[in-house]
Amino acid sequence: MEEIETIIVNDEILKSFISCHRKAFLLEKLEKGMRIQNSQQENEKFYFKAEYENMVLLSKVDDFVEMNDQKTAVLNVHSITIRERHKILASFLAFIMKLNKNELPISFRTPEGLKIVYPRVEKAKQILLKIKETFSSGKAPNPTFSFACRNCPFHAECVEFASKEGDISMINGIGEGRKKALQKAGYSTINEVSKADPKLLAKYMGINVQQAQKIVLQALSVDTSKWFLVNKNDKNVKIFNRNYEYFFDVEKAADENYLFGVLLKEKNKVTYRYFLLLENEWKREWENFLNFVNVHPRAPIYHYDVFDRNVMEKFASMSSNRNVGRILKRFQDMYNLVKRHFVVPVRFYSLKDVAKSIGFNWRVENFNGYEAMKHLTEWKKSKDESLLQRIVKYNEDDCKALMVVKEKVSEMIKQSER
Ligand code: SF4
Repeated sequence: MEEIETIIVNDEILKSFISCHRKAFLLEKLEKGMRIQNSQQENEKFYFKAEYENMVLLSKVDDFVEMNDQKTAVLNVHSITIRERHKILASFLAFIMKLNKNELPISFRTPEGLKIVYPRVEKAKQILLKIKETFSSGKAPNPTFSFACRNCPFHAECVEFASKEGDISMINGIGEGRKKALQKAGYSTINEVSKADPKLLAKYMGINVQQAQKIVLQALSVDTSKWFLVNKNDKNVKIFNRNYEYFFDVEKAADENYLFGVLLKEKNKVTYRYFLLLENEWKREWENFLNFVNVHPRAPIYHYDVFDRNVMEKFASMSSNRNVGRILKRFQDMYNLVKRHFVVPVRFYSLKDVAKSIGFNWRVENFNGYEAMKHLTEWKKSKDESLLQRIVKYNEDDCKALMVVKEKVSEMIKQSER
């Protein structure tokens, strides 16, 4: 008789399953065994464990408090809003307690204080049975691309898998619903979508023809690995090549500590500098940063997406330096330009994917913004220089990637004007 492998479900796997079945499956396979070991090494009183339907269930409590003369298990929530995933995690914990016949009240600890939880054990049970069904197949579910993929450790693997399969969810703008509609209409590969009639596609998908044209072009871009310039007659499709240009990128720690990276491009030279703006002692580095970007006070400062600008505005609001307003006027968002006027062979228009599509590679492998955040948070505590050096190297490459993307964009715009 074939032996059925035990499935391990802990808080992380459950949380992943809510956003992506594939991620949960890969995580469970990757760290099977290590999770149980970890829970045994740490303080056991914070772990709840039970067996159910050939699954080992593990849930961790952050604290215990006395509430209304009753011992109460506490789960930390770092936001004011209690989301569905928090409620499911609490229900999972309640379900394990119920299996152990050791039911305690559960509370969320939010920045606003303790909030009592009303767990739905039936819901937790349903999800667990679904996990069992998915995991027992022994085959990883196909990727379902969404915003959850941005910081997922399996991102590269999923993109490679989907590209090989010609999976249509590799087309930017195709989520689960649209994928089903396309498959129902008989389009199952990227190549087929790239040759589709936009009018028919619009009808099948319930979208307008303009949106369908964009999807067809996006499919063509992925299929041929080519960039396309769209709306080229729009007056906003403009970019100038200056003698001096700055490229700016911010890394943020989990708390209020920041690393600002800036690359200055002069005719034949690039200079990179970074500035550490640490909580309660940011002023000196802030001034150094402003002085550096003001060496060439008319040079544009390129950045990617709103985050860098928002951080800049945050410091501007705390600063009395009168130059900041003028500096902010020099900010130019490359994401905005790329997303509105270009179709690029990527699933996500992140700087990383866009720059990689033109052959740029980061020197630090398996690193992303999330890793940089963890490293910066850890460095602040430990002052381990190797952690900082990794972030700096990664940030410098972010700035260089931005420069490469800007060059590609400006070259394509120039070509279209000829
Ligand atoms: S990259 Fe996206 S699709 Fe792949 S496992 Fe992660 S969340 Fe799921």
